[in-house]
Amino acid sequence: MTAKIIYNTLSGVCSMISVEEALDKVLSCVEVLEPEQKPILDCLGQVLAEDVYSTIDIPPLDNSAMDGFALRAEDTRGAGESSPRYLVVVGEVAAGSVPTKEVEPGTAIRIMTGAPLPEGADAVVQFESTDEVSRKSSGKDLSHIGILCQAKKGLNVRCRGEDIAKGELTLKKGRVLRPQEIGALAALGRSTALVVRRPIVAILATGDELIDVDQPLPPGKIHNSNTYTIAAAVSRYGGIPKMLGIGRDSVQSLTKKIDEGLDADMLITSGGVSKGDYDVVKDVLAEQGEIGFWTVRMKPGKPIAFGVIKKVKGREERKVPHLGLPGNPVSSMITFEQFARPAILKMMGKKMLAKPTIRAIIDDGIASTDARRLFARVVVTRRGDQYHASVTGPQGSGMLTSMVKANGLAVIPENSNGAEAGDVVEVQMLDWGEEQGEMKTSPIVSIAGKSESGKTVLMEQLIPEFKKRGYKVAAIKHSHGGMEIDHPGKDSWKFSQAGSDAVCISSPDKLAFIKNLDRELSIEEIMPIIGSGFDLVLAEGFKKSKIPKIEVHRKELGDDLLCSPEELLAIVTDGPSDTLVAYSCRLPVFKWGDTVAIADFIEKNFVLNR
Ligand code: AMP
Ligand code: MG
Repeated sequence: MTAKIIYNTLSGVCSMISVEEALDKVLSCVEVLEPEQKPILDCLGQVLAEDVYSTIDIPPLDNSAMDGFALRAEDTRGAGESSPRYLVVVGEVAAGSVPTKEVEPGTAIRIMTGAPLPEGADAVVQFESTDEVSRKSSGKDLSHIGILCQAKKGLNVRCRGEDIAKGELTLKKGRVLRPQEIGALAALGRSTALVVRRPIVAILATGDELIDVDQPLPPGKIHNSNTYTIAAAVSRYGGIPKMLGIGRDSVQSLTKKIDEGLDADMLITSGGVSKGDYDVVKDVLAEQGEIGFWTVRMKPGKPIAFGVIKKVKGREERKVPHLGLPGNPVSSMITFEQFARPAILKMMGKKMLAKPTIRAIIDDGIASTDARRLFARVVVTRRGDQYHASVTGPQGSGMLTSMVKANGLAVIPENSNGAEAGDVVEVQMLDWGEEQGEMKTSPIVSIAGKSESGKTVLMEQLIPEFKKRGYKVAAIKHSHGGMEIDHPGKDSWKFSQAGSDAVCISSPDKLAFIKNLDRELSIEEIMPIIGSGFDLVLAEGFKKSKIPKIEVHRKELGDDLLCSPEELLAIVTDGPSDTLVAYSCRLPVFKWGDTVAIADFIEKNFVLNR
């Protein structure tokens, strides 16, 4: 068996490359793995490698959605609390059994949830809408039942195949299997599924100073922690870790250990890739091929080795991607997240390779001076509608506790001087626990006011003011009178004429989304469509919504306000501010035209510190 390391995808020794370039190269060297058939319970988190069609109807028969009485809807015409319709009870049917009797006119069959609907019945009236309880308590015979409501055909009836129809494509190839998909497979009667197999990732620690976890620590030594962190992360993202133990800082030891890892789909080593005397991983790799050694513009984690090791076993030749992570525990973990995680996800057939990212207000200033992208360890918390990120304390790349305390990595771009307290930064979430809730939408403020009060003018003044301050701004107009924006004759117009419920027009510099509605959406429904990518959304109008509002007051339209003062955050007026003295005892009042002060107020309360 021979192993040759080829680094033909690499751009030379020690060239400085960006995180994106490094990731592109790693991803170009890994492929989606082949599928495997396995029991459905072992498939959690794997990607379906087949289209799953249903061979049955679910539910298999029309059945009852309630405990009650199966009957003919027409027999309940005119029924009510004070005008019961009495039917003869001719039988009972429980879930799991089949009805033996039909519902003839004037009769009913007592039925339990999930039981098949008897022939002749077209509705189920629940017990609560019958006189069954009062009959029982007054000792009346149960051969009859009084129906106390008028039932429509189909009431409380679940139709055959309404969930999944026979022949339907239930789960499409490429779908990641979560508990609900595994449940759907079970409902279809599938005990196994064809899924993209999990990658086996061999993991090797390197360093003469390393001792395994179960050994006492002699002077000068430390426990190997990296390969445990890495193995746990491999499992977390769906791979199968293969622990190769500790390789010593000698060419011989490492060559032997690396060879053991070449049956895997990927090899990850930790340590030995920087410029120290004993950093021999790079020497071992160099000896057997072109060296693949990058300096990535990131901090922590500058030195990384990456290449493809060619393994020849008999006639078979395989290429095993190798990622040589730095030895410092934090660097090793952060580089794993940036490069190894997406590689594992790609091998598993996943399409979403990026870490979930949010925008948060950073509570601490972070200096960054050396033109590398900084990944600061932060704790993200939600305060009101806004995420805040605070640095976890000392950030040394050897301090694993900075990761233990963190739930996110604040990304400070390489072309900045860092971040100041109060800046909005991107945070890669290490964990996306339930307590974090949904992805947040952009902050929104409404400019409300009577007709002709100058709402649009204020919006026109505020938008350039926020743009000048470097923010991304979206504006929403509330239009009572409908709108005409899609021009007749355009292809998009033809699609909506053809009946499409929504039309999206995408071009290199604009995106328009036009959706037909049968009612106006609330602002809460509109916000997720606008998304989280804006620092501020300014809405004109929406006085009935609960979003924060600033009212524009114009003296000539009267002293009163459109909104009740409790709903307002501030007032902008062209009159003397004492006109509004009654309201202003609690509310800030701004002078019309003082756009800077109004923008300061919005910025402080919404953009920076909500
Ligand atoms: P290296 O990249 O080999 O120069 O190692 C950089 C630092 O990371 C040194 O302080 C090492 O002791 C430490 N280190 C290397 N490998 C490990 C490991 N597997 N577990 C914990 N610390 C490590
Ligand atoms: Mg070392």
